[in-house]
Amino acid sequence: MDFELDDTVATVRDFVHAFADQTLRPLAREADEKGKLPAGVIKQLGQLAGNRATIMAEERVQTSEDKKPIGAMVGVVGSEELAWGDPAVLLNIPGPGLAAPSITAAGTPEQKKRFLADIFNVESEEPRFGALAVTEPQAGSDVSNVQTTAVRDGDEWVLNGTKVYCTNGARADIVVVNATLDKSLGRAGQKFFVIEKGAPGFKIGKIEKKMGIRASETAEFALDDCRVPLDNILGGVDALEAAREGSGFKGTMKTFDSSRPSVAAMALGIGRAAYEYARDWAASELPMSSNFTRRNAITSKLGTMKRELDSARGLIWRAAWMADNKIPNSKEASMSKAYAPQAALRCCIGAIQIMGPEGYSKEHLVEKWFRDIKVYDIFEGTGQIQRVIISRAILGRLDK
Ligand SMILES: Cc1cc2nc3c(=O)[nH]c(=O)nc-3n(C[C@H](O)[C@H](O)[C@H](O)COP(=O)(O)OP(=O)(O)OC[C@H]3O[C@@H](n4cnc5c(N)ncnc54)[C@H](O)[C@@H]3O)c2cc1C
Repeated sequence: MDFELDDTVATVRDFVHAFADQTLRPLAREADEKGKLPAGVIKQLGQLAGNRATIMAEERVQTSEDKKPIGAMVGVVGSEELAWGDPAVLLNIPGPGLAAPSITAAGTPEQKKRFLADIFNVESEEPRFGALAVTEPQAGSDVSNVQTTAVRDGDEWVLNGTKVYCTNGARADIVVVNATLDKSLGRAGQKFFVIEKGAPGFKIGKIEKKMGIRASETAEFALDDCRVPLDNILGGVDALEAAREGSGFKGTMKTFDSSRPSVAAMALGIGRAAYEYARDWAASELPMSSNFTRRNAITSKLGTMKRELDSARGLIWRAAWMADNKIPNSKEASMSKAYAPQAALRCCIGAIQIMGPEGYSKEHLVEKWFRDIKVYDIFEGTGQIQRVIISRAILGRLDK
């Protein structure tokens, strides 16, 4: 087994790290205090990120020089670096965001071009965002309970329902929502629909005020007889037949198989930021002459943090490698998502513990990372839900 990163992946990692270090990290504190970034800065972020949006869309780095598929590895390695820079500022970088995995997994080639390559074209002057809205007031962990409906009316779909906690949901140029075509089919009756900005009946609700990732927009919206063209069902109108045959829900789950390792990688990036900060603080603030017992406790804690971060990275890279090699990775994606956020949370707590009151102070970013990390154990499926998925995969579905 080769743990060396492919040259292309390593180049992307170094490029993204420099961007995270020089651009994202310096914006972190002010963005957290204000709860948002100025529009001009968001525009600059889009320009500075250069062709990142396109990389994440159609022309994403898919193969190494010797033609091995590496798209998923690029995704997790880049996500770790960006979140290391700042997780909330990262979510303000224009691009398709979580809309991309669902369109990539369930869209037709024409839809991938129309909703990803065309909209998130590097030539576009204005920042553009994509979002994925699955969660509803009564359905998040239990995706099968989604109440939003889609009904065909001639050349259009008419959607009704409420979506909550949607990252970038209010400013998105496209929002991918899952809705049920036929409740009698249960979860098999769900499909993804793309709602474009300005669609009639798309009504933005409240913007959440949050404990962490405060500069990231989290929105509620209602679909009130919201009309979208017939072609906006992901997979095309033929998807309707697939839903009748019972494969609709699989599209939703396939999306998570590709997005969960990336979200786990973001958690890893936050944990690594806290670990490195505490390590460097200890090296400069605690000279060799300081209390031996305290030094020993700190070095031991740092060792544990590093071990947990490396374990998380192993799980994440395995899930990404499997995706690149077209090996089903639901269980492994969930393992990475179950482990990394909690390991990173322990690292953030450890960093505060090492630094004592300084770790609690707003003089340092450690207290912010501690607030930011928790949501990684909530969105894209909570830690508990990942455990349910893993145990079902290990034991077989006992409730079949
Ligand atoms: C900042 C933020 C951004 C978000 N962004 C998005 C987004 O962009 N798109 C989107 O669709 N959603 C988003 N979400 C929503 C998030 O994905 C859901 O909140 C999450 O999946 C949990 O679902 P729920 O809200 O239904 O909670 P619930 O399912 O009600 O969970 C409540 C608690 O019960 C536990 N629980 C539930 N079922 C079980 C079970 N079977 N076994 C054990 N424990 C269980 C959960 O683990 C959790 O601890 C975001 C949330 C936040 C906070």
